Amino acid sequence: MFAKSRLLIPGPTPVPESVAVAQAKPMINHRGKEFGRLYDTCLDGVKWLLQTKGDAYFLTCSGTGGLEAAIVNFFSPGDKVLNLTTGVFGRRWAKIAAAFGLQSDQLAVADGQAVNLDALRAELAKGGYKAVLVTHNETSTGVLNPIKDLAAIAREHGALVLVDAISSVGSTPLQVDDWGLDVVVAASQKSFYLPPGLAFITVSAKAWEAHANAKLPRFNWDLTQAKDFSAKSQTPWTPPVSLFFGLEEAFKLLRAEGLEAMHARHEMLMKATRAGVRALGLELLVKDEAAASRAVTSVCVPEGMTPAQIRQPMLEKFGIDLAGGQAELKDKVFRIGHLGYQDATDSLAVFGALELVLARAGRKVELGSAVKAVQQVLMESGY
Ligand SMILES: *Cc1c(COP(=O)(O)O)cnc(C)c1O
Repeated sequence: MFAKSRLLIPGPTPVPESVAVAQAKPMINHRGKEFGRLYDTCLDGVKWLLQTKGDAYFLTCSGTGGLEAAIVNFFSPGDKVLNLTTGVFGRRWAKIAAAFGLQSDQLAVADGQAVNLDALRAELAKGGYKAVLVTHNETSTGVLNPIKDLAAIAREHGALVLVDAISSVGSTPLQVDDWGLDVVVAASQKSFYLPPGLAFITVSAKAWEAHANAKLPRFNWDLTQAKDFSAKSQTPWTPPVSLFFGLEEAFKLLRAEGLEAMHARHEMLMKATRAGVRALGLELLVKDEAAASRAVTSVCVPEGMTPAQIRQPMLEKFGIDLAGGQAELKDKVFRIGHLGYQDATDSLAVFGALELVLARAGRKVELGSAVKAVQQVLMESGY
């Protein structure tokens, strides 16, 4: 049957029509005045979203390129770093560090748990760590890590704080300057209302000092180059000009909503999603609401069912594209994205459809119960 498509995976996320249209503009000279103006507007927007008055740069790549840039710019072979791994993305960053010859020690937790601050303190007390690398929002599990507290601990031990904020920026408060974050990486396809292809990286004064002494080879990701060209409102290499057109329009929409309202919307969607899951009689992977992601919720697949038995009819009958689990969670969970250009109507649609899909699969579901739970959260949120 005909069904409109609704993309509810944790990135890429839906692109608003005006942003898509803006990207269709004719090409311009990336060394010309018009691009310079565009660059400045987009840079202002990035600094606003990340709450920094410090340095920020654009990289042409998906998020992973940004994570690699954060390694090659600040370290030398053999440097010891502590990777806080709460899932697939934390482990990816540790793999990148190891690939470039760093000594990457990992402080890991069970799936669905956030970083434990006492364990972090104990590990850092062993000494020798040049930096702590952490994922703000672990997209594979739906865990939100306490970056502010964790950064304070890392600083006490003289370690740089590097944050993968790729899926948190926009959905979750993040104060790069006030929280003393040295390097923060974000990417266009999560909460920037943009397609994939552009990453963002911030650099603190302390990180620049590390950069000056860092011996790892670098060229495409060299932030000295980015800094030199940024002074001319340009990127060192040809930028994805169309994405900049889109980003300028996206910032109009994001600024019109405002930071606080944007964070409140994502918190409401997180609560609505968790309430809906409980009402369906399903289990949440992340039990502790304080550690629950504002961007994505992992739902445990009930006994006797596979994720495909839920995701396939959701897509085929209702056009709702939900994400599967990653790595060891592949057969255990499915994930509902609620980041970026998502609203309350999306949540109502998801749970109305999930009720039908589960009922058709023979699960005991009271039709309307999950939708009602979502509606109650919306009511309580004053929506
Ligand atoms: C999406 C994402 C990435 C980047 O993945 P890419 O596919 O390279 O864009 C990295 N970390 C987190 C936490 C993410 O959500």
